[in-house]
Amino acid sequence: MKTDILGVGIDDLLLSEAIAAGAALLQEERFHYVVTPNPEFILSAKKDEAFRAVLNRADLSLPDGVGVVYASKILGRPLRGRAPGADFAQGLMAHMARTGDKLFLLGAKPGVAEQAAENLRKANPGLIICGTHDGYFKEDGPVIEAIRASGADVVFVCLGAPKQELWMAQNGPQTGVKLAVGLGGCLDVFAGNVQRAPEAWQKAGLEWLYRLIKEPSRIGRMAKLPLILVDALGARLGGK
Ligand code: UDP
Repeated sequence: MKTDILGVGIDDLLLSEAIAAGAALLQEERFHYVVTPNPEFILSAKKDEAFRAVLNRADLSLPDGVGVVYASKILGRPLRGRAPGADFAQGLMAHMARTGDKLFLLGAKPGVAEQAAENLRKANPGLIICGTHDGYFKEDGPVIEAIRASGADVVFVCLGAPKQELWMAQNGPQTGVKLAVGLGGCLDVFAGNVQRAPEAWQKAGLEWLYRLIKEPSRIGRMAKLPLILVDALGARLGGK
């Protein structure tokens, strides 16, 4: 049962449980996809019905940001904690390095996925990265074919939201993978171009503040984020 956060269903899973659930999906032959909603997703899903539907059809929907957890508390149906997409990806890759499942990296500017692949192979001995493609393509067909031809079991789709979720839902089944995961800016992090917050900041729920300090141009985007808490309060008081 998913927890409804302002119209978007979220799985109340801790990180280790989320990784185990991802590994279990890999045991099944059919296509699955994972989404990692943060407050920005939930705010845009409110106005964008197609995005909301795709989020709600996902096999796994992980609470990526601390704002989602705060909103759940205000709504009176508290999630137990965050399961950030980047950490889920790390756990899944450690699992894949043991099982031999193959990974394809899709997204970010040209060259970034290749650099990420090099770093990830070093960090996860045994991990098979069977292909990469940048995220600035015009036609889907050749990208779908590249993933299919690589024999990938898993694809990380890093095109930003909502593009990556719509792309996974529409094209994922044709790629032949068992699992697609939408991971936003993660390839930039894995490539070493963008730093995640130190662990203490993450634990304190301040990853968003660290990101704002590093990329002040995000202020416009981020200024809207407290709105999710206002919405949650409105929904609670309205008895929803
Ligand atoms: N991106 C892409 N294709 C596009 C638009 C964006 O590959 O058409 C990439 C972009 O280069 C970046 C990622 O998608 O690597 C999105 O980053 P953002 O910081 O917006 O994602 P977030 O982590 O905030 O979801």
